[in-house]
Amino acid sequence: MGFIFGPSGIPLRCKGDTIEGIECARDIGLGALEMGFVQGVRMKEDTAARVGEVARKQNIAISVHAPYYINLLSEEKEKRDASRVRIFESARIGGIASAKRIVFHPAFYGKTDRKLAIGNMIEQVGMILDEMKNSKIEGVVLAPECMGKIAQFGTIEENFSVANEFGMEKVNPCVDFGHLHARENGKLKTKADFLDKIYEIEGFGKKYLQAMHIHFEGIEYTEKGERRHLPISSKSPDFNLLAGALIEKNCSGTIISESPEIENDALEMQRIYSKIALGK
Ligand SMILES: [Zn+2]
Repeated sequence: MGFIFGPSGIPLRCKGDTIEGIECARDIGLGALEMGFVQGVRMKEDTAARVGEVARKQNIAISVHAPYYINLLSEEKEKRDASRVRIFESARIGGIASAKRIVFHPAFYGKTDRKLAIGNMIEQVGMILDEMKNSKIEGVVLAPECMGKIAQFGTIEENFSVANEFGMEKVNPCVDFGHLHARENGKLKTKADFLDKIYEIEGFGKKYLQAMHIHFEGIEYTEKGERRHLPISSKSPDFNLLAGALIEKNCSGTIISESPEIENDALEMQRIYSKIALGK
C-alpha cells in the first residue's frame, strides 16, 4: 500500500528512449513512469510491446499522457472527433505498452455553459469507451486531469462526476494538486486544505482513495490560473502538506512528478513521503 513515484517522461539524466527511461527510473529507485505522447501518438506497436515487456520485467507502473491538443468540448465537430481519436490511440498504444491509466486534458469550456459541460463530457467519454470496447482494449482506465486554468474543464467535481457515470474501472481522474492550487489562486496552504480536497474526492466514493493517480509540481499562477510549472522546492504548494494528508487518509496509488526537475523531484517526493509515513 502507499504510493509509488515516477517521472513524467524520460528522466533527464537518461537521454535515451522510453525503454532506457524505464530502466533508468528503476535504477534510481522509482516505481512508475508516465509516457508523454503529448505531441502526438507516434509510438509504433512493436516498440510499445517492447516497452510493456521491459516495464513488467523492471516492475515499473506505466501510464500515458495523451496529446495536449485535445478539446472534447470544442464547438467544431471535427475537433471533438479528432480529440476522441487521440485519446483512443493513446489507450490503444498505451495498452500494448502495459499502461493502466491514460491521462488527458479534457477541454476548454469555450462557449459551453458550465452546467452543460459535465453532460457533454460524459457523452464524449462514453463514445471513446464504446470505441475501446469494440476494439477489445481492456484494463486501460481513462483519466481526465484536474486542470490549472479557470478556462479549462477539470475541477474535482467535474472529473469525478464523469468518472461516477462509468465506474472507476473505466474512468478514474488524475488529480493534479499543483493545478488545483493554481486554479484557486493559491488555496492549498495547509494540510487541512489538502484534506478538504481528499474529502471532496471521497464524497464521490471511498474507493477512489485507494487507486489515486496524482500529478504534483510547484506552480506559478495568475488570476487566470496556471502559468508555469516549478520545482518542488518552490513549495507552491508544499508537498509535505499533501504527503501528510494522504498518509492521514490512508490513500494509495501513484504520484507523478511534473516538476521541471522531473526525476530528481520524483525522488524528493518519495523521500518526503517515506519520512512522514515512517514517523507516523
Ligand atoms: Zn497534464
